[in-house]
Amino acid sequence: MLRLVLVEPEGEYNVGFIARLCKNFEVNELFIVRPKCNINSAIKFSARGEDILRSAKIVDTYEEALQGTGIKIATSSIANNKGDILRKAIFPWELSSIMKSERVALIFGRESVGLTREEISKADFLLFIPANPAYPTLNLSHAVGIVLYEIWKAKHEIKPKMTKESIDLLDKYSKILYGLIRKSDEDYALYIALKRALIKGINDEEEARTVIKFLRKLYTKFLHEDKE
Ligand code: SAH
Ligand code: SAH
Repeated sequence: MLRLVLVEPEGEYNVGFIARLCKNFEVNELFIVRPKCNINSAIKFSARGEDILRSAKIVDTYEEALQGTGIKIATSSIANNKGDILRKAIFPWELSSIMKSERVALIFGRESVGLTREEISKADFLLFIPANPAYPTLNLSHAVGIVLYEIWKAKHEIKPKMTKESIDLLDKYSKILYGLIRKSDEDYALYIALKRALIKGINDEEEARTVIKFLRKLYTKFLHEDKE
């Protein structure tokens, strides 16, 4: 369960884009604290996230928006200033361990002045997306997009990319091909390097099958030409 909280957003385009992102990345709840723009005008930027926008909860206080949530994560482009514990930040890729807890709230600030120190202090963590130190401030909806994508990745990361059978076949053909050109025992490194590169580089089962087919054809052709 994930709740996105926007505090006093000023641009309707941002609110619309964010509703669309909520749909893209399956965010369950959108809360908006005292919007400074017209929510109805945001609809034209929300595409198929329109229903999310229409069912967004508009609330008067920050506290209301956080009610019922567990871990609360504020965000800011100002972070890690020396000696400022409040602004000690976590990075997007560290979210995966935190996301395992229930009812996480992700809090984004105003386009003009971000979140106040008081608002940040009511959250459990501060998250910073590292960017050009000379200009680390992202557009609000872009920042939301990066964070939601990171959470999406963490949720789907554990999926194995290919079957054990494919891994065995990649191993088998790497070894066979190496056997064809091997001159000394040192050439063993060629087999290891090829196998590792293939396993690392292949993205899914379909790609694995195609590469295996390619290696098999290469091997068959080699055998065939050897006989001539
Ligand atoms: N009908 C769409 C237009 C396609 S999105 C609209 O309503 O705006 C425009 C471009 O954004 C795509 O061509 C692609 O380059 C990029 N894009 C959008 N979603 C993407 C995704 N999930 N992965 C990769 N690129 C994407
Ligand atoms: N001048 C403001 C700009 C806020 S940008 C300030 O510096 O605080 C609007 C919102 O986008 C921020 O409150 C934060 O929620 C998000 N944001 C922008 N850039 C970010 C970054 N690099 N890391 C994390 N959040 C960011």
